[in-house]
Amino acid sequence: MRCILCEKLSFKAICKSCVDKLLSENKKSRILDNNLKVYSFFSYSSIAPILHVKHHFWGHRVLNQIAKHTFGEFAKSFNFEDKVAAIGIDDVSQNGYSHTAILAKALKSSSITPVYRALRATNKVKYSGQSYDFRRKHPRNFSVCLKGVEYVILVDDVVTSGLTLKEASECLKKEGIDVLFALTLADAKE
Ligand SMILES: [Zn+2]
Repeated sequence: MRCILCEKLSFKAICKSCVDKLLSENKKSRILDNNLKVYSFFSYSSIAPILHVKHHFWGHRVLNQIAKHTFGEFAKSFNFEDKVAAIGIDDVSQNGYSHTAILAKALKSSSITPVYRALRATNKVKYSGQSYDFRRKHPRNFSVCLKGVEYVILVDDVVTSGLTLKEASECLKKEGIDVLFALTLADAKE
């Protein structure tokens, strides 16, 4: 098969030189106004061609490969004194798989346990292409389904306004859960 980025022959969906090129980019981080720190591996523009693939049926292979190099490597170096749950935002399956579930799964380690279907948006409004004001007026209204968990890492594919992550972390806080930080594949703030 061919690398989806450079079209050179490759055994993997993305060839090694394209992976190296992607990973050489600086990681990003920002702090939301509720003090939640968000770490991202890429800027949105550098990873956009890959994120667009996620809607195809074979997109999970691409996402799995990228998740291993980013979330997987992060998990290897992450140390915490207590057990931590990794929770994907609204990990509803689309086209047979959920992108946030794939990213959360890549965090699995001795201290991190992915927990699925823990945080579901009860308001199915689509944020894509909508203004900040629209997003602010239409909260996702998350329902929390999580037992016996004290610490959480929130996982999403893209952080744009940060409103979704902020709302999710506030919902978890109300349940007495400590959200350590959020981890996203890409930050759309250039
Ligand atoms: Zn390539």
